[in-house]
Amino acid sequence: MTNLADLPLRPDLVGRSPYGAPQLSVPVALNVNENTHPVPPEVADDILRRVGAALTEVNRYPDREFTALREALAGYLGHGLGAESIWAANGSNEVIQHVLQAFGGPGRRVLGFPPTYSMHAIIAASTATEWVPAERDDDFRISPETAVAAIERTDPDLVFLCAPNNPTGTPVGLDTIAAAYDATDGIVFVDEAYGEFMPDDAPSALTLLPGRPRLIVSRTMSKAFAFAGARVGYLAADPAVADALRLVRLPYHLSALTQAAALGALAHAPTMLGMVDDIREQRDRMAAGIEGFGYRVWPSWTNFLLFGGVADPKGLWRALLERGVLIRDLAIPGTLRVSAGTPAETDAFLDALAAVSAAPVGVRA
Ligand SMILES: *Cc1c(COP(=O)(O)O)cnc(C)c1O
Repeated sequence: MTNLADLPLRPDLVGRSPYGAPQLSVPVALNVNENTHPVPPEVADDILRRVGAALTEVNRYPDREFTALREALAGYLGHGLGAESIWAANGSNEVIQHVLQAFGGPGRRVLGFPPTYSMHAIIAASTATEWVPAERDDDFRISPETAVAAIERTDPDLVFLCAPNNPTGTPVGLDTIAAAYDATDGIVFVDEAYGEFMPDDAPSALTLLPGRPRLIVSRTMSKAFAFAGARVGYLAADPAVADALRLVRLPYHLSALTQAAALGALAHAPTMLGMVDDIREQRDRMAAGIEGFGYRVWPSWTNFLLFGGVADPKGLWRALLERGVLIRDLAIPGTLRVSAGTPAETDAFLDALAAVSAAPVGVRA
């Protein structure tokens, strides 16, 4: 047994921290924006049948082009997209890694707007792409002018926009995405991991794809689809983008079992997505409850809420954990983030918050 410091690690990785959301066994886990509803049994049965069939051929490598899955994902997304516009990988984290391997790398820069999804900067680091942070406007918004000014100042090779943004829940307007695209010759990557939780009448960045070959829109099955453990993320873009990503992916990166499971889930998309409305409802109930205790809640287009006015976030986080409720401290001063869960989990969270907000630890600023 030796220490990390004794190993000949790549110099640019020295001192870096890995992704570190605590994985604790608690009654109410509302910390990583999972869909807390389990996969419905009738869907689980069909997925099991499909995975079983795939197992009988698992001596062979899987379809390297995951053609059936790409067709199913294109069909799910709509917007006139064909299979050739889709790429998928083991979670959108791997999709992001492919994008940065192909379009970033040593000597290249990716512009981001923190506070945002922490994996964007971490994957930038692991692919030796320089992460260039720029400031947001008030209330975590990004206006077209702010995005364009940051691009002109930093001349990035890629621009990452998380829309709606994690961990703030706030949307990014299509006008900002379009303006960012026009201001750069690089890749504009829109992370729409929470796309299904947006208001029903809010347009997706997918609507911007025609005529914009450097625009990439990524999605995941981890959140709305209740499929986080299966690890399936994907993107839509010009088919040439998939040609670029083929250069960096490992051959057969999507296992036959993953492909079969994802196809099963997509075959039951309406059932799998049946909980989205309920989750949005619980999110709004949670927001009202949190505000009732005197905290401030940012408007959310996702399945989670960022709330502020917390005098001692670490203390409040710990006090909730002691009551069996795990939420997330992202070290944004005065704030904590909580995922929307089932009605019972929402009750448990609000009850715990009530208990600790009456105690000194949760004193509001
Ligand atoms: C949760 C999340 C993802 C999902 O990552 P997977 O690897 O698909 O599980 C991607 N982007 C954002 C912004 C997220 O919050």
